[in-house]
Amino acid sequence: MIRIGQGYDVHAFGPGDHVMLGGVRIPHTHGLIAHSDGDVVAHALCDALLGALALGDIGRHFPDSDPRWKGADSLQLLAHCMALVRGRGYALGNADITVICEQPKLAAHIEAMRVRLTAAVECDADAIGIKATTSEKLGFTGRGEGVAALAVVLLQSIGNQ
Ligand code: MG
Repeated sequence: MIRIGQGYDVHAFGPGDHVMLGGVRIPHTHGLIAHSDGDVVAHALCDALLGALALGDIGRHFPDSDPRWKGADSLQLLAHCMALVRGRGYALGNADITVICEQPKLAAHIEAMRVRLTAAVECDADAIGIKATTSEKLGFTGRGEGVAALAVVLLQSIGNQ
């Protein structure tokens, strides 16, 4: 038994001196506007995990209106989503993530993001792939208005369903 899920998230740039992406603090000329820490990478992965088991979306599990999630560490949200997945008898097979922005440049941070995400999800080091791309100056990411992330996951049944 396998299940697949996809996730997508966007946050706009606003005032600040760093962004949080994949659980890594990256210095930047702007921050990301969000109720939580604005970690689009973690949020897209959360939605992919939830979506794979038809468990709704991140907004349902961690509503903006709930003060418990203000400034939340998105890796904790991710660990919570993964616990839901395990509780339903599934393990992460693999995840593939694409981050889309013009700035900041992410190549130097990809490996650190993978370490942070695999630790939060408690999976093998090679189970999560992360790629970064620009959108060639097209659209909102191209104009430098924010950061987008896409995630796809494969879940594998670990039995006792
Ligand atoms: Mg988000």
